[in-house]
Amino acid sequence: MKPSLILLGSTGSIGTQALDVARKHGFPVRALTAAKNSRIMEDQIREFRPAVAALSDEAAAADLRARVADLPVKVLSGEEGILEAAALESDIALNAIVGIAGLRPTMTAIETGHTIALANKETLVTGGALVTKAAKEKGVKILPVDSEHSAVFQCLQAQPTNRALRKIILTASGGPFFGKTAADLAQITPAQALKHPNWSMGAKITIDSATMMNKGLEVMEASWLFDLPEDKIDVVVHRESIIHSMVEFDDYAVLAQLGVPDMKIPIQYAITYPERYECPTRPLKLSEYGTLTFFEPDNETFKGLPICREALRRGGLSATAVNGANEEAVAMFLAGKISFPQITQLVQEAMDRQPAAPADSIEHILEADRAARAFVRAAVAKGATSGT
Ligand code: NAD
Ligand code: MG
Repeated sequence: MKPSLILLGSTGSIGTQALDVARKHGFPVRALTAAKNSRIMEDQIREFRPAVAALSDEAAAADLRARVADLPVKVLSGEEGILEAAALESDIALNAIVGIAGLRPTMTAIETGHTIALANKETLVTGGALVTKAAKEKGVKILPVDSEHSAVFQCLQAQPTNRALRKIILTASGGPFFGKTAADLAQITPAQALKHPNWSMGAKITIDSATMMNKGLEVMEASWLFDLPEDKIDVVVHRESIIHSMVEFDDYAVLAQLGVPDMKIPIQYAITYPERYECPTRPLKLSEYGTLTFFEPDNETFKGLPICREALRRGGLSATAVNGANEEAVAMFLAGKISFPQITQLVQEAMDRQPAAPADSIEHILEADRAARAFVRAAVAKGATSGT
């Protein structure tokens, strides 16, 4: 049986690769959503013929409505429209939205009873407690799309309970600035930071990879997905991105999942789990690589990972403050308003300003997110952290 899909964030890097997988296997697509790219969305609607399409931007949705007036598709708009799309009948909701904007759609999809294929790591970073509780209550599976988490999930198929699991080891590419010093980082431009050595991804996650925030967010994501404390989640820099992550058991046996660095493999596994089909990518040929290399992360130069570990230990809304400040700071870096080192500096300050409080409702999470963003904007406006 072919699983039907709701695809949230269909115009992005993960979204378009998910459609490559759907095209290859003829998976029915019930709904497509995105922020504002009506031109790409029109092409996707014409090819995949969903019943519903939603754009969060009202003007873009109006444009889309005119473009597809000859088709029976219902075009919705605003966040409400995206939530309505997330609640349609379907087997799987794949959330490939970027940022905390993905949190409510994930909750809606869980409440509707969909199996969740989750690329939107910010959902778990900010709302991990609520989301995992709701999924448990609804009996809904959350299947990871993030390559590291998919790798851990695949390795755990050998030992389905957490029994005898000693730790998990997430691999990190190290990003484009691996080996650089703190002094080098001050000069980094957005164009340099947008060039990732192994993966072609959306702008936000590419900058997160350069600061190592991505790996930090992934440690938090892993903590919720696999119910593990911070000290059971190791990170090793692996430059070639061939080993996607590992698990270590009490007997020190280590299992790893390998493959070419292509997100279509974990995307497809989240859709077809527990089945496996041929994937629209290429097979791994290890002799083409010759050597796989491993290093300790440089937590002195790249602060993203230690900041996120600290947020995870503090718990509650700390992770939301980190995430919100990071989203805002990355946007400011891309707009040329702050330097590369200021990103993690502002994130650290936002985390330290966040009072201890539980992340026990969507409203509290969104309020902490707004406060962290407002702090970053005010700090930049005052020039409080400029020059460092
Ligand atoms: P992207 O920027 O390429 O695409 C994001 C999608 O979300 C687009 O369709 C966009 O229109 C939509 N969107 C953005 N803001 C929105 C809003 N406010 N409301 C509704 N929709 C909105 O991002 P991406 O690289 O595809 O990443 C998506 C998610 O997957 C992120 O959470 C990222 O961390 C995660 N992820 C991505 C990769 C990758 O290879 N790209 C790998 C692992 C995890
Ligand atoms: Mg990843």
